[in-house]
Amino acid sequence: MRLVVASGKGGTGKTLVAANLAAVISLEREVVLADCDVEEPNLHLFFPAGEKTLPVMTDVPVFDSSRCTHCGKCADFCQYGAIVVLKERFMFFPEMCHGCGGCELVCPEGAIILQKRPLGHVAFSRPRPGVILISGVMNEREVMSPHVIRETLNYTSGHPVVICDAPPGTACPLVETLEGADACIFVTEPTPFGRHDLALAAGVAEVLGVPAGVVINRSMGEDEIILDFCRSRNLPVFMTIPFDRGIAETANGGQLVTDGMPELSAQFKELFGKVCYLAGVK
Ligand code: SF4
Ligand code: SF4
Repeated sequence: MRLVVASGKGGTGKTLVAANLAAVISLEREVVLADCDVEEPNLHLFFPAGEKTLPVMTDVPVFDSSRCTHCGKCADFCQYGAIVVLKERFMFFPEMCHGCGGCELVCPEGAIILQKRPLGHVAFSRPRPGVILISGVMNEREVMSPHVIRETLNYTSGHPVVICDAPPGTACPLVETLEGADACIFVTEPTPFGRHDLALAAGVAEVLGVPAGVVINRSMGEDEIILDFCRSRNLPVFMTIPFDRGIAETANGGQLVTDGMPELSAQFKELFGKVCYLAGVK
């Protein structure tokens, strides 16, 4: 079972929920916690960063100008605009290349070969008994985060319980993380911005056919703006985390709130039960 903890935007408490949910599950069974927020992974704020790492590579074309006849077939093929061929000029924009390898296949002159280029790495650790942490990390100035996310998720496959900390937003990185998941938890705040971003993110889950529910974070007891929305979209509200100085200080200090607050630990345990039910897993 793969569960995704996501939010329409950053800073809602998504990582807090993912980390504490994994910690509570680990009391009863082994859990893989996957950091798919590869542009800014921050589960290491709660758990020590992994020491063992494996590189994430991509293919990048290398052009042999002595063979190139400037026919333009590679540029016509490239859907990402990474190649521009003019009458006497050839331009390649590596930051736009998605490493599909198609240009090599269509070049009639054998003027293109593919070479490996590092995009980032995946780090592994066992930060506490029962938790396997797998963190995707993309190199600076790279843009192909879906590739790093895919590689990170590959290392989780086959494990019975996987919790993914998704990248914020609603673009390709979220789609890559959500696709094929059994259920999703959206973490949101009871504000107009929170509602707006939740609506966008919930739309993505709907399109992908991933059942979803909501955790309201930093609640001050006036959550109608989110509750109304959830009612209108048939989204269950799984849990409400109060706006509480103790919780904020604990989380900001890199501590798990479930370690020192038994009532929250019980709520996270309930949260897991509700998500399992939503996912149709007993
Ligand atoms: S490998 Fe694919 S994405 Fe990259 S330049 Fe070639 S066709 Fe374009
Ligand atoms: S397809 Fe090959 S020969 Fe044609 S422009 Fe591209 S690199 Fe040159």
